[in-house]
Amino acid sequence: MTTSAFAAQGADLELVGIQKRFPGFTAIEHLDLKIPPGSFFALLGPSGCGKTTTLRLVAGLEEPTAGRILIGGEDITGKKPYQRPVNTVFQSYALFPHMTVLENVAFGLRRRRLDEPVAKAHEALRLVELDHLAARKPQQLSGGQQQRVALARAIVNRPALLLLDEPLGALDLKLRRQMQLELKTIQEEVGLTFLHVTHDQEEAMTMADTVAVMNKGRIEQMGAPEELYELPKTAFVANFLGQSNLFTGPVVGSTSEAIAVGVAGQRIVVPTARAHRHVGEVTIGIRPEKLSLHLSAPAVDPARNTMGPGRVIDVSFSGVSTQYLITVPHVGTLIVFAQNMAFGPVAEEGGEVWVSWDIEHGFGLEDEPADT
Ligand code: ATP
Repeated sequence: MTTSAFAAQGADLELVGIQKRFPGFTAIEHLDLKIPPGSFFALLGPSGCGKTTTLRLVAGLEEPTAGRILIGGEDITGKKPYQRPVNTVFQSYALFPHMTVLENVAFGLRRRRLDEPVAKAHEALRLVELDHLAARKPQQLSGGQQQRVALARAIVNRPALLLLDEPLGALDLKLRRQMQLELKTIQEEVGLTFLHVTHDQEEAMTMADTVAVMNKGRIEQMGAPEELYELPKTAFVANFLGQSNLFTGPVVGSTSEAIAVGVAGQRIVVPTARAHRHVGEVTIGIRPEKLSLHLSAPAVDPARNTMGPGRVIDVSFSGVSTQYLITVPHVGTLIVFAQNMAFGPVAEEGGEVWVSWDIEHGFGLEDEPADT
């Protein structure tokens, strides 16, 4: 249930077979995407993967080479930007410096001669909790406040779809984290569809209900943040969303419950349901925080995988946790994040250690091993 008098109807967005070529460069190979109404959808990927181009195509600032764009079921592919029920918030706020906050927010409504521009602007400012600063000029506001004015201005005419292009990029880290939560709350309150572009995995995971990971003009995987983190399909997704330990080896046994992979002479078991490939050479992974460290060989436990002995080559303390780098002969370097407990066993640089993990926490990629 929404508490805002501002609640509007978000529309769904559908991209069908989108391709975008620039002279001499294909920015988007092939994109199919469906975003349900009222959702907070993040396009996440490294610089140059085609995120902004996708957003510009939806906004009508670029024309696709092939494919169609539908908003609320209506094909808007050939429409001009101002004919689309879409607004964009960019990283640079682009507020008018000579106008007050209220005038900035009401500007678009006035220009289009819409009813009650002042009342609507106040309502939008209340939503971003800035109505008390309505009479100020932009330069009298902090970066975060200016960003909220830009947001109020973008939602004041209740677009069916709001596009956000790295809108928090100019803020310092603390403010950025705070604004992430605020943006999410506002989105839930107004019920609009948000399409958010970012290269910050934490930002995408914190805010979005669905994340699409883009790489080289394609979507590698799409799903809820927890799903992408827990069950990445590719090495790219596994490494872009946090860090992971990956091992490749042949499948040496399988049941309906689990597969066993041979890694440097050891059997590593992964639940079948958590593996995207079940035959041939398979790459499996485990997140660093799921590994336990042992100072002597752990007792055999059928519910856990064990590796070792290895040697600690680096220890770095970061307050809440400590990161260990461990080399295991014929396997490679493992990364382990361990919570700092008061009296936990602390492995020292140069020391011998074993690692183990609950079989249920592993995952298996669908990548061809050559790709990993
Ligand atoms: P960033 O996070 O750095 O903004 P991005 O994922 O948003 O990256 P895009 O801006 O969509 O990336 O660009 C995708 C690719 O298309 C890049 O390699 C870029 O150089 C290229 N590109 C973008 N616009 C043009 C253009 N007008 N002409 C030629 N190539 C372009």
